[in-house]
Amino acid sequence: MKLETKCIQAGYEPKNGESRMIPIVQSTTFKYDTSEDMGKLFDLEASGYFYTRLQNPTNDYVAAKIAALEGGTAAMLTSSGQAASFFSVFNLASAGDHVVSSTAIYGGTYNLFHVTMARMGIEFTFVDPDCSDEELEAAFRPNTKCVFGETIANPALTVFDIERFAKAAHSHGVPLIIDNTFATPINCRPFEWGADIVTHSTTKYMDGHDATVGGVIVDSGKFDWMAHKDKFPGLTTPDESYHGVTYAERFGKEGAFITKATAQLMRDLGSIQAPMNAYFLNLGLESLAVRMERHCANAQKAAEYLEAHDKVAWVNYPGLPSNKYYERAKKYMPNGTCGVISFGVKGGRKAAELFMSKLKIAMIATHVADAHTCVLHPASSTHRQMSDEELVAAGVGPDLIRLSVGIENIDDILADLEQALAEI
Ligand SMILES: *Cc1c(COP(=O)(O)O)cnc(C)c1O
Repeated sequence: MKLETKCIQAGYEPKNGESRMIPIVQSTTFKYDTSEDMGKLFDLEASGYFYTRLQNPTNDYVAAKIAALEGGTAAMLTSSGQAASFFSVFNLASAGDHVVSSTAIYGGTYNLFHVTMARMGIEFTFVDPDCSDEELEAAFRPNTKCVFGETIANPALTVFDIERFAKAAHSHGVPLIIDNTFATPINCRPFEWGADIVTHSTTKYMDGHDATVGGVIVDSGKFDWMAHKDKFPGLTTPDESYHGVTYAERFGKEGAFITKATAQLMRDLGSIQAPMNAYFLNLGLESLAVRMERHCANAQKAAEYLEAHDKVAWVNYPGLPSNKYYERAKKYMPNGTCGVISFGVKGGRKAAELFMSKLKIAMIATHVADAHTCVLHPASSTHRQMSDEELVAAGVGPDLIRLSVGIENIDDILADLEQALAEI
C-alpha cells in the first residue's frame, strides 16, 4: 500500500460483521477463563491484554498504523511526545550511561535531557547538527548508548542530516533515534536513511486538530542488539522482573525494543495514551497525507509572500531556495517539509508585537503544526524572561515570529498577513 492508503487502511482490519472504525476499548482490564491463561500473559509467553496501564487494543491498532507509515516493525503509543522522547532514550540508557544529541531539538526535549535525565545520572553531549566530522567523532564515549536528532527542529527549522548521523552512530555500535514530528512519515521516513528508532509528538500534525496530546515510538526492527551484547544488557541479558526473559532473544530485532518498553517502562512508569485519545489520533491519521500536502503548499506560498514583502526583514523556511537547508530538505523531503515558518519584521520587537495584535485569522497560541493557522512571538511569551541580547544568543531574536500555517484557504491567510503588516 502507498502512504495515502496506509493512512486509511493500515493497522486494523475488521472481520465479518465487525465495526468499520476501530473500537474504543474503554476498559482497564480483560477477562480470562483460568489463572493459567493469565499467568502466560504475565510471563510474556502468550500475547494478549491484561491491564490498560501496559497495553490496550485500541492503542495497538493505531500504533500498528503508524508503524506501517514509518516502515517499522513495532510501535507503542505514549501519553505525550515528552513521554515518547523519554522512553526512547531511557529504554537504552541508565545511570552512568551517555547519549549524543543534536543541539537543534525541541526545547522541551532539551530540558528533559539536560536537566531531568541528567539528574537521573545519564550524561548528554550536545553537538551542532552541522558540526565537523572530528567534532562528531569526539562526542562519542565508550558508554554512549544512542544518538538523538530531530528531522526538522522545532522552532529553529534546522534540517538534520539523518544519513550522516546514522553512519556515525552505527560505527560506534549504537542506534540513531529521530524525532520525526514536524516532517511526519508523509514527508520523511527516517528508517529509509538509516535511523533505527523514530518518535513523534502525535499532538502536532498526526492528531492535527488541537484535540489530543500524545506520542508514539516506532522501531525499525533493524538494529542488531545481540551484535552489541555488552552495550545493551537490558535487551540482551535476562530480565529478572519478567522471569528471566531476554528480550532480544525471545522477540528478535523486530520486537525486542518495543516489548521491553511496554513490559518495563509502561508497567513501571505508566504513561500510556488513553484509548479515547488513540481513537481521535486515528481520525487525524486518516487525513494526514491530504493535510500535509495542503500545509506544505500553503506554507510555501506564505514563505514566498513574506520573503518578497518590504516590511519583512528575513524568512526561515527550508522550502525557499535561499534557505541554508534547501538542498538537504530536497534530499530528505522531496515532496515538502512542514507548515512552520519563522520570520522577522523590520522594526524588531515592537513591530512584531504590533503585527501580531492585528492578525484576525492567525491565532496567538503556543501550539504549532495543526489545521488552524497560529502564531507565536517567543520574545514576549515563551522566552519573555530573556533580554534582547540573550534572545539573539539563543537564536530566537526579539523580532522572531513563528508562523504555523494551517489548511485554510491560502488567500485568506495571505490577506490576514497583508492587513497586519500594513499596520506596522
Ligand atoms: C511538541 C513537541 C514535542 C513534545 O510533545 P508533547 O506532545 O507536547 O509532549 C516533542 N518534539 C517535538 C518536535 C515537538 O514539536
